[in-house]
Amino acid sequence: MAMPKLFLRPGHDKPVRRHHPWIFSGAVARIDGQPDDGDIVEVYSSEGEWLARGYLNRRSQIVVRLLTWDREEAIDESFWHRRIDRAVRARTLLELESVTDAYRLVFAESDWIPGLIVDRYADFLVLQCLTLGIERRKELLVRLLAEECRPAGIFERSDRDMREKEGLAPSEGVRWGGEPPDRLLIQEYGHRFRVDVRRGHKTGFYLDQRENRRRTAAYLAGRRVLNAFSYTGAFAVWALAAGARHVVNLDSAADVLSEAAANLILNGFPESSFECVEGDAFRVLRAFRSTGRRFDAVILDPPKFAFSQAHLQRATRGYKDINLQALHLLEPGGILATFSCSGLVSADLFQKIVFAAAEDAGRDVQILERLAQPPDHPIRLSFPEGEYLKGLICRVW
Ligand code: SAH
Repeated sequence: MAMPKLFLRPGHDKPVRRHHPWIFSGAVARIDGQPDDGDIVEVYSSEGEWLARGYLNRRSQIVVRLLTWDREEAIDESFWHRRIDRAVRARTLLELESVTDAYRLVFAESDWIPGLIVDRYADFLVLQCLTLGIERRKELLVRLLAEECRPAGIFERSDRDMREKEGLAPSEGVRWGGEPPDRLLIQEYGHRFRVDVRRGHKTGFYLDQRENRRRTAAYLAGRRVLNAFSYTGAFAVWALAAGARHVVNLDSAADVLSEAAANLILNGFPESSFECVEGDAFRVLRAFRSTGRRFDAVILDPPKFAFSQAHLQRATRGYKDINLQALHLLEPGGILATFSCSGLVSADLFQKIVFAAAEDAGRDVQILERLAQPPDHPIRLSFPEGEYLKGLICRVW
């Protein structure tokens, strides 16, 4: 049976030729044949030249996610096997095993497997199927992952917010092997963490901040640290292990703060070495200022503020405000480790935001280090959308 053909509108072939993996609905002239959503389609230029093939979903703004630009490469079981094998092998080459047993194995488009995220947590894999094309092939992909990685179990955590745009309901549960325990135990450079893969954020842990925690900790010996947006206290464990005097974890969610305390105890830190404060960081930082509370280091790792171009201005104001409040709390010579995981906020824009906050605070600031996402979250050159995490370690006078 002939494969369905999708013809692009004139002038829309350039990104495809440059191996960008997305085709937006506005670029499509017509589709020949009667493909179901999730099926493979052949993509042609307006002049009828074959360009690529990928999977279709008319319900999404991104109607096709491209899989191959090689006409000879069929999208069969061996294709998926090769893609998974390449992603897993790239992690083996990073030799992450010597520093951690928790890392990203498959980073979707950035690993040429659009819509699939797989994280390893010790003996378990946690996957997220973000698209219909992946959902339709989930059983095969789970089997291939089981064969390739031999985990104790594979757990799915495909949350609502990411799947809605694809017309999919959330999906969660054991997909292969055994049930993960209530808390999985992982280690990151020898620090131990409890991970709740069922209720935790993302797949359970902010794996993308591993190297940034390590870089930040190097500046924290002897300091009183404010760990704002602490989640389960990963920066706090690193800080105390590096010799910080005291850490305040601040988060708006009570349940993550009790996990933070549990992680600190697990790593042998006494309750006198830390404090957990529940509240909105924007308010609590202001309250600290008005009561004259000061810190020698502040870590700011807020959630994503910018979800679309329309929200970019508001997000920019949010980043500026939280950085301004943090600057007000720092002793001269203090450290500010500040992050943004909004892909729409470029590293350049982020630096300008921090500069604007420094101006308003009347503080002189030096950048000591620029931080980004780690190599298990690679940035594919033909998919710049995969670049999202940036950070600055600053000294504040
Ligand atoms: N630094 C953490 C990850 C932070 S994730 C780590 O390394 O693991 C962002 C956290 O910010 C989440 O735990 C979320 O509950 C919290 N959060 C979101 N909005 C907040 C607000 N307005 N004030 C305080 N915390 C907030």
